[in-house]
Amino acid sequence: MKNLVIGAGLTGSVTANLIATKWNEKVIVIDKNNFVGGNINDYVDEQTQIHVHRFGPHIFHTNSERVWKYLSQYTDWHEYSFEPNVVIKGQKVTLPFNLNTIKQCFDKQTAEKYTKKLVDTYGMEHKIPILELKQTNDEDLKFIADFVYKYVFEGYTVKQWGLKPEEIDESITARVPIYISYDNRYFQDKYQAIPKNGYAEMIKNMLYHKNIQIYLNTKYQDILKENFDRIFYTGSIDEFFNYKYGMLPYRSLTFDVETIDCEYYQPTAMVNYPCDNDYTRITEHKHFLNEKSSKTIISKEYSHSFELGKNERYYPIKNDANSELYEKYLRDAKQLKNTYFLGRLGAYKYYNMDQAVLAALEFWDTIT
Ligand code: UDP
Repeated sequence: MKNLVIGAGLTGSVTANLIATKWNEKVIVIDKNNFVGGNINDYVDEQTQIHVHRFGPHIFHTNSERVWKYLSQYTDWHEYSFEPNVVIKGQKVTLPFNLNTIKQCFDKQTAEKYTKKLVDTYGMEHKIPILELKQTNDEDLKFIADFVYKYVFEGYTVKQWGLKPEEIDESITARVPIYISYDNRYFQDKYQAIPKNGYAEMIKNMLYHKNIQIYLNTKYQDILKENFDRIFYTGSIDEFFNYKYGMLPYRSLTFDVETIDCEYYQPTAMVNYPCDNDYTRITEHKHFLNEKSSKTIISKEYSHSFELGKNERYYPIKNDANSELYEKYLRDAKQLKNTYFLGRLGAYKYYNMDQAVLAALEFWDTIT
């Protein structure tokens, strides 16, 4: 059987790896980029030897034993506790907004009052999405909700999505809940780590197999699809069907990467700027693998609408109209024999890395 995987991102690479290793079948992988990994790609900067996350900060985190075990065949890990900051009134404070952030933002007496109210109402270690906290009728809780909404979520979300928090799907802001805890970590998953030699290296290891042939700089339009028995497509589903029902909207990003002549630029890998500047966040890459250099590399991240031919797709925009449009394409996709649509773009889902891997592994279970 001849298999074609379109896209050498995380989903495409898991799929090709499984075809090669589990089926022992030949597979061709193509990617339009001149590198593997899609949006998780990183590269080593020549001058400083720092691994740069080409498309923004990627911190692997999962509770799935299956995903962890699977990826661990292809990389060693650098354990990493992600403890970013957000700038509130010019000061870098703990993100997610938690009981430490309250201490950093208010005087002692005020902080104690709000901490007590949050703990008494919800209990320690509780996570509450900002849009849920905003529903409160309690005066003190309302004060906290308005403060966090204004200084953490409103400006950032308008920059990131072009919409206010209440105008986007509530699951998106719920990714970063208010955390009634002194735990400063962004994630609480059992496994939190960065591939020791970078993401691109992990992907290369997944694709390094006698059954796998990779063609970079290759668009799927250049491939004669009739020559394949199965096609695994990880691009955007609307593109596959020539946008016949219209274009699925996405948000896109651009990055200004700078090498700076100082050892550290900021105290942590990611600092968010909800209220200041045009960019949403600054990533300082050397923190991820604790890399040493007298210089440092930062990237400032800007959010835009996706425009075909101008920039790349990053985030599907979840709402009813877009889901309906996606479903139309999916109905057509289901008519095609042996063509499968996978990954963040193929499924039009805001997957984290572990969710993308799990979806690819579980998809595999259904076709074997
Ligand atoms: N968010 C915010 N302020 C922040 C961080 C996140 O408003 O400082 C909101 C924003 O809407 C963002 C969403 O929460 O798109 C999810 O944030 P996350 O850090 O998970 O985004 P990602 O790293 O996937 O871009």
